[in-house]
Amino acid sequence: MDPVNEWGNTPLNVVDEEIYNLIEKEKRRQSHGIELIASENFTSFAVIQALGSPLTNKYSEGMPGNRYYGGNEFIDEIENLCRSRALQVYRLDPTKWGVNVQPYSGSPANFAAYTAILNPHDRIMGLDLPSGGHLTHGYYTSGGKKISATSIYFESLPYKVDFSTGYIDYDKLEEKALDFRPKLIICGGSAYPRDWEYAKLRSVADKCGAMLLCDMAHISGLVAAQEAANPFSYCDIVTTTTHKSLRGPRAGMIFYRKGPKPEKKGQAADAVYDYEDRINFAVFPSLQGGPHNHQIGALAVALKQAMSPGFKAYAKQVKANAVALGKYLMSKDYKLVTEGTDNHLVLWDLRPLGLTGNKVEKLCDVCNITVNKNAVFGDSSALAPGGVRIGTPAMTSRGLVEKDFEQIGEFLHRSVTLTLKIQNEHGKLLKDFNKGLVNNEELAQLKEDVEKFSASFDMPGFLMSEMKYKD
Ligand SMILES: *Cc1c(COP(=O)(O)O)cnc(C)c1O
Repeated sequence: MDPVNEWGNTPLNVVDEEIYNLIEKEKRRQSHGIELIASENFTSFAVIQALGSPLTNKYSEGMPGNRYYGGNEFIDEIENLCRSRALQVYRLDPTKWGVNVQPYSGSPANFAAYTAILNPHDRIMGLDLPSGGHLTHGYYTSGGKKISATSIYFESLPYKVDFSTGYIDYDKLEEKALDFRPKLIICGGSAYPRDWEYAKLRSVADKCGAMLLCDMAHISGLVAAQEAANPFSYCDIVTTTTHKSLRGPRAGMIFYRKGPKPEKKGQAADAVYDYEDRINFAVFPSLQGGPHNHQIGALAVALKQAMSPGFKAYAKQVKANAVALGKYLMSKDYKLVTEGTDNHLVLWDLRPLGLTGNKVEKLCDVCNITVNKNAVFGDSSALAPGGVRIGTPAMTSRGLVEKDFEQIGEFLHRSVTLTLKIQNEHGKLLKDFNKGLVNNEELAQLKEDVEKFSASFDMPGFLMSEMKYKD
């Protein structure tokens, strides 16, 4: 073969067996496990095809029709299609809303939105991380260590959930906001099992002259399918990831209001929103360089798929599955934060059992169930969070329904029972506990049952029959 073809057109399994084999192992792991991480999902074959396309080769700094490089006629069409589909998916009027689809992911989307509308040291309020908020909403530790760039560059005062109910304490939020006078209130979270009261948040924002931003990353698929309250009715800006419940490629989007502002006392009659130019400028050139066109192309595909009737059915099933799983766990007398869910996740409070999220996560991992440890409000240590977060989108994408989630509930019940047993026999210290995970027959049996169960469902994105490692 000539050098170009030898280097440029040889398939992965020939060029790099190490990476090829690791990808095949990852495919086996994904298909033979129960994926319950609430922020993950399985995207489609069509999305993966677009992601793996030569769109990745192109530089296209700037906006469609106004690029710093030539050769963008098709990239422009792709990005415009992506933007118009994004507005369509959320039923937004293009004269009132715009969208930037260039953010590389959710965190960069948030930072771009803040850069667009805030000055350094402006005040912001978001849901506290231990209450279920996201790092990028201004997290600093209780000791005052600034963790997120959001808390490094802006002054952040978090609001929290009510310690006894697990629901956001909107009254306290209002009281804090009226004292703190933030320029921006951020809603949306990563581990909050209930829907949001956007009307209430809007009224607080109006009382203290703040802008309202919703980061709907976790629930953007539910919002698209009208299976969650609509943040667009009340918010000025909506940011999101695209790879969680929306089931697309890893990327981010920023939606912003445009056109005339609603009439308000003390405001010029012809006042208009000025977010569009600020946000586009913040994304590029302030924070990013060339857009990832393979992501944007893949996102356009995912948005098209999100407008199909099948997506609506999926979103309904995501919620029904979360309810079924929650009910099963509560029937075993386990404690869920807020005693249930309105969305795609349940937050399981393990503290009444004397267990930490770390140990349950670890044991589940050994038997191919992926959950993640999560702080439960009131936890004394951030290093040993008292709960696990369990989400239904990924397994719903594999076709599981309520009865399958009851089976998953049973696997989780077995896992937690086994975690307790090992802790009792070997002790609470993680290094002692880990010894109990080795050569454990019950654990081996659970792993076998989990693998058999999960391998019986199809995988979106690739054919299990064509995997290199099948058993
Ligand atoms: C996941 C998430 C993000 C960050 O997304 P990345 O793509 O991981 O950067 C931001 N906000 C919320 C609420 C999230 O859940």
